[in-house]
Amino acid sequence: MNYHSMNIGEIYKLFNSSLDGLSSIEVDNRIEKNGLNMLKEPKKITAVIKFLNQFKDIMIIILIISAIISFILSIINKESFLDSIIILTIVIVNAILGFIQEEKADKSIEELTNLQKTKVKVRRNGDLLLIDSEYVVVGDIIVLEAGDIVCADSRIISAITLKVDESSLTGESIPVEKNNKILKDNTLLNDRTNMLYSGTNVVYGKCEAIVCEVGSNTEFGKIADNLTKEVNEITPLQLKLNDISKFLSIIISIIIVGMFIIGIIKKIELKELILLSISLAVAAIPEGLPAVITIILSIGITELAKKKAIVRKISSVETLGCTEIICSDKTGTITQNKMKVIEVFYNNKISKISDLDKDNRLFYNMLLNNNATLEVGDPTEIALIECLKNVVDINKIMKENVRINEIPFDSNRKMMSITVKNKDELVFYTKGSFDSVINRCSYILENNKVKKLTKNIKEKLINVENNESDKAYRVLAYAYKIIDNKTKKEEELESDLIFLGMTSMIDPPREEVKEAIQLCKKAHIKPIMITGDSLSTAKAIAREIGILDDDSQAILGKDIDNMNLEQLKKVVEKYTVYARVSPENKYNIVNALKEKGKMVAMTGDGVNDAPALKLANIGVGMGITGTEVSKNVSDIILSDDSFSSIVTAVREGRRIYDNIRNVLVYLLTGNIAEILIVFVSMFFGHEIYSPIQLLYINLITDSIPAIALSFEQESKDIMKRPVKKQKNSFFTQFLVSKIVISAILKSISILLIYFINLKLYNNDVATTLAFLTILLQEMIFTFTCRNLKKNIINKDIFNNKYINKGLLFLLFIQFLLFTTPIKKVFNIHAINIYQLLSCIIIVIIVFIIDEFTKKLLIKLTKD
Ligand code: ATP
Repeated sequence: MNYHSMNIGEIYKLFNSSLDGLSSIEVDNRIEKNGLNMLKEPKKITAVIKFLNQFKDIMIIILIISAIISFILSIINKESFLDSIIILTIVIVNAILGFIQEEKADKSIEELTNLQKTKVKVRRNGDLLLIDSEYVVVGDIIVLEAGDIVCADSRIISAITLKVDESSLTGESIPVEKNNKILKDNTLLNDRTNMLYSGTNVVYGKCEAIVCEVGSNTEFGKIADNLTKEVNEITPLQLKLNDISKFLSIIISIIIVGMFIIGIIKKIELKELILLSISLAVAAIPEGLPAVITIILSIGITELAKKKAIVRKISSVETLGCTEIICSDKTGTITQNKMKVIEVFYNNKISKISDLDKDNRLFYNMLLNNNATLEVGDPTEIALIECLKNVVDINKIMKENVRINEIPFDSNRKMMSITVKNKDELVFYTKGSFDSVINRCSYILENNKVKKLTKNIKEKLINVENNESDKAYRVLAYAYKIIDNKTKKEEELESDLIFLGMTSMIDPPREEVKEAIQLCKKAHIKPIMITGDSLSTAKAIAREIGILDDDSQAILGKDIDNMNLEQLKKVVEKYTVYARVSPENKYNIVNALKEKGKMVAMTGDGVNDAPALKLANIGVGMGITGTEVSKNVSDIILSDDSFSSIVTAVREGRRIYDNIRNVLVYLLTGNIAEILIVFVSMFFGHEIYSPIQLLYINLITDSIPAIALSFEQESKDIMKRPVKKQKNSFFTQFLVSKIVISAILKSISILLIYFINLKLYNNDVATTLAFLTILLQEMIFTFTCRNLKKNIINKDIFNNKYINKGLLFLLFIQFLLFTTPIKKVFNIHAINIYQLLSCIIIVIIVFIIDEFTKKLLIKLTKD
């Protein structure tokens, strides 16, 4: 349809709508008839494919090949093929577990997607509502302003200085000016300046538009239908783990080749060699690892959502814990964003609102040059209406003065202006930051007389503003001029103005922020305030909450304007408060910090903040006050906008990071110990563990504690220690030493048990005891891995209830294994109570030694 060449009346008729919008019954009918305003869901991977994908892992493929070889050998040798059946069963059980976990992770991601829905303002039945964009229907009247994402193809009804970024649709990076003028029939899509297209975003101005196409019928829908969304992102850690798998596979291959060579020289039977290879492959592979990491990340995402941080990019769960610098806005994030006008400066003196004459231009400016109502809108503007609601007749003033033009607020200009018409005159009003307004004034209104704004008067005003800002007040300045009918350019209008006065508002810091700042400092994380507000206000607040210790740590955005990257890099860490910044300043600050190798989290809410949010290691969007555009580029979104939630999220990130390390140590130690045992015993011509036993250890005995470990609570010193650099390898000297030493301890004890009992009794007893020992050792090693650095033998040893329950469950399964007929499959033979006790004693001794090596390792190795 050529909506662009129709007039608005025709379009209202076509969609049976009006400027007041649709009725709710009509909306329901249209949703029922045409469906929701959504793109077709990307083709979902079917459950069968998801299940089969579990077998794509190289390690699992090795296992399957082993089972097949073992099966063929059994047929050739006419033996029972129980071994291969059991290997396959365990592999299938593992795939089922992996599948269930993947489903769970997908579900938590889906729930998160639901939390992040784009909101849009629509007018229905004459009322303005904020709804999820998927409920928008054809004929709806949508109201958009800078920072909003266009959610459906629409025809503009009215627009004020509207500019739209259409790069996502047309590739054109410069925002396009839009208006409501009718266009020729044959105008191309790129030139349809009276249409808005889904997926583009408003960068300047505002407008009302009527929705013409929704969902897959939109221009974006037509091209996006074929795109499938990448839901499961692979995180850097998962990539590192894939590398470990590959590394282990290579090691196994080398060992197996070596073993064959030795075997051939020693004339060992081929069947024996193949079985040994299978054992080794099984021993070396941490089969449970990928599933456990997925679980840790999805548990982390859910926990973070509970703590008010909604994760949009899974990799940020890993990055959060390594945050070194938090760059935060002031208004709303550090302060409450509950503005209240305290005093005004008018007629050359500071007074209370109630002391002023009711009919004055300052009040007109505050009320008319304002887009809020008492209930909705920018808190700064709400405060201006709030303070006047009992002082003047707001309705009367609004009726007598009709707004005919607006130059919208934007955080670069830090001003907003309007033109109003009343029965006598055309007045131009401006309000904004003191510095922007005063520099555009040539006159001042005092006792109803317009006077020249002399240098002296200006200096006096600057002093007043400084004093007010020092009290941590947010100061807004006001100006006006009477204009004639000729349309003028923005710059011309906003010049030679008559200064009216100032308002001072308080916006107290959030209660929880002071503590959060202290916590940051203890955790070696540097908080930086980057604000659009004035230097004095920013300094006063920063001092109060503990961000600023010394005035020399504060700087104005304009003072870094002319610095190049190298110059900025030199000074960027010196400052903790940046005031009157522009969005470009924000971008440059993040860039300089990142160039210095820092891990930076940055908050942002405006449309212009998007580049800085994208650039930061962790872009933090604001759930309440953030524009849709800023939320869309963020890695996490705070549902309460509070600075302290960033700190909580970092804390959670550190916990997750710790738990991943603990689980890695737990699983890899087991595998390395198994490789050592299998290899050494093979060297002496013995087979201590069968492939089935090894698979059982890796998949059952190891996986349950590993999952329980991922629920481990944070250690007490989590926010007291230095930040871990993410670029550093996960496998620090400390971690590798811990794995190797624990693995050696375990394998020595088991080899001792085996060989001593082999001497004392027979192979059946020796293998049974070796199997029992490793099972008990894996269980008790869970406690060691709860904290890699602290001795766990204390009163808190049993305070992770997931571990307690998991281990009790495991104990029960092991009991069944040793007492029911299944024991035959696992090659378990009868043992007596003394033999059992000897195993328990050895396990406890190893546990205690392991605990003592922790302190030693901290001293001897780097972490
Ligand atoms: P922060 O960057 O910490 O959120 P901020 O709210 O002061 O602080 P901006 O929203 O960029 O940052 O505003 C910059 C300045 O513009 C404010 O300090 C104020 O002087 C002025 N200002 C803010 N809101 C308005 C408004 N609605 N109309 C006119 N001027 C405004």
